[in-house]
Amino acid sequence: MFPLFGYHSFLFLLLLCFFPRPCFTARITPEKITVITTDTHKATWHNFTRFKDAEKGSHVSGMSELKKYFQRFGYLSLPDNQNDNFTDVFDTQFESAVTLYQQKLGLPVTGQLDSDTISAIMSPRCGVSDTAPRIHATKHFAYFYGTPRWGPGSPMTLTYACSPSNMIDYISLLEIRTVFQRSFSRWASVIPVNFTEIEDYESANIRIGFYRGDHGDGEPFDGVLGVLAHAFAPENGRFHLDEAETWAIDFKKVKSEAAVDLESVATHEIGHILGLAHSSVKEAVMYPSLRPRSRRVDLKLDDVEGVQALYGSNPNFKFSSLLESETSSNKGIGLNCRSSKWPFSLEVVVFFLLSMIT
Ligand SMILES: [Zn+2]
Ligand SMILES: [Zn+2]
Repeated sequence: MFPLFGYHSFLFLLLLCFFPRPCFTARITPEKITVITTDTHKATWHNFTRFKDAEKGSHVSGMSELKKYFQRFGYLSLPDNQNDNFTDVFDTQFESAVTLYQQKLGLPVTGQLDSDTISAIMSPRCGVSDTAPRIHATKHFAYFYGTPRWGPGSPMTLTYACSPSNMIDYISLLEIRTVFQRSFSRWASVIPVNFTEIEDYESANIRIGFYRGDHGDGEPFDGVLGVLAHAFAPENGRFHLDEAETWAIDFKKVKSEAAVDLESVATHEIGHILGLAHSSVKEAVMYPSLRPRSRRVDLKLDDVEGVQALYGSNPNFKFSSLLESETSSNKGIGLNCRSSKWPFSLEVVVFFLLSMIT
């Protein structure tokens, strides 16, 4: 005869087997991948956590660095009469900048350095400055000043080329080119613009390259994470990625916790090349930040409406197909949840059996 404890242990183990694991729908980390956690890299902006919950009127050493961040991304201008330096005081002007930032990033608008805001500030992001949010329409696409676009022809063809000297060597050129081809084709499917890859880098409309630190355009890169890439508004065509990132096209093969999805960043930067600025819609490709080991490549309604207002629609594009794909992707997320595999009623039955036996 089994001892009572052993019998119960068996039932408990049986119960554990039936319990589905909790679902984390936002994680894209594939199963059975061990993500290496390491402190060898110091992600840019990681020390901004110390400003969390700093209150208006307070003086926190080093806050001028946070003000420089806000200046860099278009939320704050230098004071006129203080020798062109920011102070370490949380003043009214800084509070306004925080409020604008929260509106633009689709965060709860509190005017305070709460945890949501600090977390957004520390997220790796695009180096292109954000434009001020529109009054009465905080969740929307945006354009650069003057609404520049390529043109005026329609349909038109834009050429692109990868730099012969500024590429990365741990992903094959063929794979990189395939990623860019897919990224360009997403935009081409919604507007009457074709993208063609050519060999002659100098003569291409769009010129793609990986660069490290100061690379001569006044927008130096900052090492691991922080700023990931930047691109210039029409009709400039420069498209630069930070060589210091761990670029990935398949997270199953890259285990670094700081890995950045090349295709997500490529698709985002092409939006800038075409004339879109940053959107406040978190799911949109044109949202300014992207977490490491995450992917955001599908154009959302906000991206499509924004770019079509500049170039018109591709005659083959149908809004209904976009809405369908958004609906089915939502369903796909739902399928990962517990209810689909082991219905709640089964857990109730197991509990019931257990209580009967004991
Ligand atoms: Zn951007
Ligand atoms: Zn650059």
